Amino acid sequence: MIKHAAMKRTTKVTAKGKWRQLLPAMILVVSISAFDSAWVKAQSAQSVQSSNQTNALAISHTYQPENKPDNAWSVLSSPALGPSEPIGSYANGCMQGASVLPETGTGYQSMRRHRNRYYGQPELIRFVEQAGVFMDAKHEQRLLIGDLSQVRGGPMNYGHSSHQTGLDVDIWLQSVFPDEPAHPNRDMRSIVDKAAGTVIAGGLTPAMRDALYFSATYDRVERIFVNPVIKLALCQQETDTRWLQKLRPWWGHDSHFHVRLACPAHVASCESQAPIPAGDGCDDDLVNWVNEQSDIVTGKIKPSPKPTRKKAPKQLPTACETLLTN
Ligand SMILES: [Zn+2]
Repeated sequence: MIKHAAMKRTTKVTAKGKWRQLLPAMILVVSISAFDSAWVKAQSAQSVQSSNQTNALAISHTYQPENKPDNAWSVLSSPALGPSEPIGSYANGCMQGASVLPETGTGYQSMRRHRNRYYGQPELIRFVEQAGVFMDAKHEQRLLIGDLSQVRGGPMNYGHSSHQTGLDVDIWLQSVFPDEPAHPNRDMRSIVDKAAGTVIAGGLTPAMRDALYFSATYDRVERIFVNPVIKLALCQQETDTRWLQKLRPWWGHDSHFHVRLACPAHVASCESQAPIPAGDGCDDDLVNWVNEQSDIVTGKIKPSPKPTRKKAPKQLPTACETLLTN
């Protein structure tokens, strides 16, 4: 049980209700997706109001397995012609006019290129490049860049529910020094002891703290998903916590963080999300996230049967269907 001096728990944790609400994401093991299942919505309505949970998208970020059958989007090899444009929502959309993230650049290394997910909107590529320049200048280290989007975005055959419009990128929570091999196909390493509810010793390096800071204070970044333990650690160590507002707690995200850019203002086809609530989010609800994660991994909370009601299949925007075949 984590207790935070500055975050007294003023409400009783309704672990059972919250757990029921969040279990599907735990079972799916985690990535960000727009969790629009009717079941989750119904559970949300019944459970304690939680600013984090009602506003966070469900996130499912498993990086394995990779041996899933291709889908119509994962086999594409060329960008859709036309001006760059995100179409639809982060978890149900596609993109026109993708740019390519180079395999390496100043201060960054693109990882796992065989997954073919190194495409994004030009402004996302710019963000990664600028984050790399920052990392090189301040720490002389390289960021390790995970998945962006497929060449035309769209649903992936494994690993993510979002990352569909070229506005999402995963950044590993570890960096490498110039003389250190990046091993671009290696596994990610968690920096969180979920049972204890703490970051492992030396896990959140100054370079990674600064990478999060750079991302959160980058104007075009709308939100960042991190494990609640990581956010709590930052709440405790930072003197000015205002920049933590954009950090949203979600399951997984203990070996990477997920950066999401806002929809470009001029693109009507891009579906925005609800804005993040005011405040730094260093509150009781965050502590509850940490405690609940601990309770689940230690078996204190028992799993219940998965919901039986099936989600209606998502219907991609018509513009995406057109883009898929042209
Ligand atoms: Zn992600």
